[in-house]
Amino acid sequence: MKPCFGYIRVSTQKQGEGVSLDAQKDAITVFASRNDLTVTKWFEEKETAAKSGRPVFTAMLKQLKQGKAQGVIIHKIDRSARNLRDWAMFSELPDAGVSVYVATESLDFNSRGGRLTADIQAVIAADYIRNLREECIKGMNGRLQQGLFPWGAPPGYLNQGGGKPKIPCPKTAPLIKLAFELYASRQYSYETLLDELHRRGLRNTRGGKLTLCGLGNILQNPFYIGFMHVKSSGKTYQGVHEPIVPVAVWKRVQAIRSERSGPKSTRHNHLFMGLFRCGLCDKPMVPERQKGHVYYRCNRSGCATKTLREELLDDAIRQELCTLELSATAAARAQNTDKPDALIDLEEQRSALDLQIKDQECRLERLEDLLIDGTLDRHRFTRKQGDIQLRLAELQDEMLKLPDVDALAEYQEQLAELRKNLVYLYDMANRAEKRMIVENVWPNRTVSRNEVAFEPYSWVTRGKSDPTLLGGTQERDVDRTFIDLLDKLRTEPQSDGAA
Ligand SMILES: [Zn+2]
Repeated sequence: MKPCFGYIRVSTQKQGEGVSLDAQKDAITVFASRNDLTVTKWFEEKETAAKSGRPVFTAMLKQLKQGKAQGVIIHKIDRSARNLRDWAMFSELPDAGVSVYVATESLDFNSRGGRLTADIQAVIAADYIRNLREECIKGMNGRLQQGLFPWGAPPGYLNQGGGKPKIPCPKTAPLIKLAFELYASRQYSYETLLDELHRRGLRNTRGGKLTLCGLGNILQNPFYIGFMHVKSSGKTYQGVHEPIVPVAVWKRVQAIRSERSGPKSTRHNHLFMGLFRCGLCDKPMVPERQKGHVYYRCNRSGCATKTLREELLDDAIRQELCTLELSATAAARAQNTDKPDALIDLEEQRSALDLQIKDQECRLERLEDLLIDGTLDRHRFTRKQGDIQLRLAELQDEMLKLPDVDALAEYQEQLAELRKNLVYLYDMANRAEKRMIVENVWPNRTVSRNEVAFEPYSWVTRGKSDPTLLGGTQERDVDRTFIDLLDKLRTEPQSDGAA
């Protein structure tokens, strides 16, 4: 009895044409006993179609060449020759004195005719695999066109099976959102953000700490605002899954990332970095540490704007907040205004947004026509399409954020509450929160000579004469996290009129 190896390959993909491991083993055993062969060792390979690199196969070839067996029995050629490179190695075995047997066919590998037949079957099998791969790609493109992500869910989402959109994971989605918000606050580097997220319980799929690279991938993934970007083709598709990060925050993170990836990045997190500009030359006021103090100076040499100590800016902010703070009676008046005005505003905003969305959708259609005409090449098309898709997402985001009447009333109340406690909140705030307060209260902060000047948003100045809180386009949405600062009031209640 001639000692032989038995080689079995099982595909992990559900193709419906697979023969189970046991069935293959049985066929080989029967074949062996009929042909006076004995199987001395089994080699079993589990694999996915079309991928090369099979450790078991390679190990078996090595042992065969070392003479550990005189032959090898395989089940069927298409199972063993998933790609032609493998087959070439296989079909060389008879030349090295190793017999090759196929359990389901009577092929004589010692004759030219038999080897030709086997080679032809291998070519057909390889072609079958290529076709399968193409079908697979077609299937994935189809999914993407439908807005479905054909691969595993990114962190923060859960898989629902092939034909369904990913859904936000109740546990990790809030952490992902937080990651964007914290990074957008400019108070974190990748390293410190990574630590903070780890502390709050964000883990990778294996339960370990996220890597810097992994965090980078998260922060640039447009999946979180509803898109699906495919790296290999460079294309971006509109997804049907629920976004978990506001578009404005996502865009801000991208701006900070591209800023920091530039040649001149600073590792320090100075309190007011990037918040003040010189009123004389519009250059940013850059922080500098000297003798234990942080100074801010205009970036232009010889500017008449003085260098200011951080504490001085801090005082100026505090004083300005004092003048903006709403007294309790004014706040009460602001809350007792009629709602219809606000409602009309809301309706107008909604229809204005609707028009803009329709407009962008038209532009997208026209753009596709231009591509079909050949007026635009694929590259420019993709870029312009990206711009429009981003704008559309932004508008849809705004639309979603338009509050209903009750929410509006609550929002109004919260803003009034914030305005009553600006100074207290500022005093209680940590560094990131201080920056957030400054950015939410004043769109423009400048220093001219030794004067600090602030230009407030309408939400902090309106109220006495015009209490409508949803104004024109110059109005900025107050960050949700800013409103959350109110929790500081609840946890440490101050006595009325203490400010
Ligand atoms: Zn200047």
